[in-house]
Amino acid sequence: MRTTTDMTANPDTTPAQARGTRPAHGPRETLAALGGSAVRTEPWPAWPQATDSTREAVLDVLSSTRWALSGPYGGRACYERRFAEAFAAFHDVPFCTPASSGTASLTIALQALGVGRGDEVLVPGLTWVACASVVSNLGAVPVLVDVDPVSLTMDPRLAAAACTSRTTAILVVHAFCSLADLDALTELARQRGLAMVEDCSQAHGARWNQARVGTFGAVGCFSMQQSKLLTSGEGGAAITADAVLADRMEQLRSDGRRFAATPQPGRLELVEVGDVQGRNLCLSEFQAAILLDGLSRLDEQNARRAENVACLESELAAVDGVSLLPRDPRVTTPAYYNLVLRFDPDAFAGHPVDVIADALSAELGTPVNPVYQPLNEHRLLCPTRIPRGDLRPEELDRLDMTRYALPQARHARRTCATLTHPVLLDDTWGMASIAEAVAKVQRRRDDLHRLAPRESTQAF
Ligand SMILES: *Cc1c(COP(=O)(O)O)cnc(C)c1O
Repeated sequence: MRTTTDMTANPDTTPAQARGTRPAHGPRETLAALGGSAVRTEPWPAWPQATDSTREAVLDVLSSTRWALSGPYGGRACYERRFAEAFAAFHDVPFCTPASSGTASLTIALQALGVGRGDEVLVPGLTWVACASVVSNLGAVPVLVDVDPVSLTMDPRLAAAACTSRTTAILVVHAFCSLADLDALTELARQRGLAMVEDCSQAHGARWNQARVGTFGAVGCFSMQQSKLLTSGEGGAAITADAVLADRMEQLRSDGRRFAATPQPGRLELVEVGDVQGRNLCLSEFQAAILLDGLSRLDEQNARRAENVACLESELAAVDGVSLLPRDPRVTTPAYYNLVLRFDPDAFAGHPVDVIADALSAELGTPVNPVYQPLNEHRLLCPTRIPRGDLRPEELDRLDMTRYALPQARHARRTCATLTHPVLLDDTWGMASIAEAVAKVQRRRDDLHRLAPRESTQAF
């Protein structure tokens, strides 16, 4: 057992050393990326996590004859309905439409709101590529808005400036463990009559002024992809308080069908309606069962991550040239997904963040990645390559994402890296090892030029 006495026995011993995972300080210490010993060699908490109750839930589906929403009604509520109800209740809203992915949830949300050809949708310039590609895949135009330099989420003033007569919707994304300024963006949407969709794929369970995110706009969308805070491998959900939007989204994701008012055992639970042209974007029963189980742990896991972030922040206070993003006081419950470490390049001999991130990955044995490539220079965002032979030259011009500048997003890409959330389920010793790794990389900053530049990889 480690005790406080163990730690204080030798005042020169850092917590990480007390664990025996770090070589001594001094001129001979070598970066792990250059063959030295790593600060941390123990594994980090695994993600995703399954418990006995997860296994039971999956086996329950397996041993039933209802594996899909579009399977015969077996006389009891399917997991898809049970998860939808639980997720709606969790957010204190009446409706939830589960979907096959976060992208699918964004697609049905925007489609239900009538976003289509020629419409402009405001999207932050620094986020996962799906936020913009989903817009262009509907025939609409993503308009990239630069981020606020402090929160790294959409800058409301720039959003207002980007509005034109063609703007119909605004996609508010909560990313980098910050929440977008919901007060300002809700007000902007109201003033301009824009449909607001919240993308909460990185903020499951977070609260802004006491209310859960996802409940501020017309629709709140979530991804439950493998890396997310609530996951079924692939999955998604769209929540709303609007019955008309809920009905449209329900039909849009199940080929135009909706749930029968009184399902008959042995028959399909879905009845044909066809108010909209739908497609199959349904979540399977296996995924719904996993999500229902995982939801019961979400708040507790968010609380644990928040405690660890507070601990990490105080550990990092002793290290020069690194900081976390400040927390807006209106964020009453934070959710930590990709935790941003912001570096002052001068404290790291001017080396690019990619090299610092590589050195940290090697010290910690967990991926540390630079933040996303800004969407105006992102390889995966190429709406002009969608085969649509009928576009006029001016339409093609509007789809040219390189016409944006996004200086704040670029600056963030040069100075910020992220830790993934599984490390935030570790203990205070783990947080101390992260701070120690940053301190070591900083001490050895003059060796960083010896690291080979890498082809940057990006998380979701
Ligand atoms: C992960 C993510 C998505 C996409 O979700 P998928 O389930 O992979 O389709 C969309 N937006 C944001 C902000 C994300 O982080």
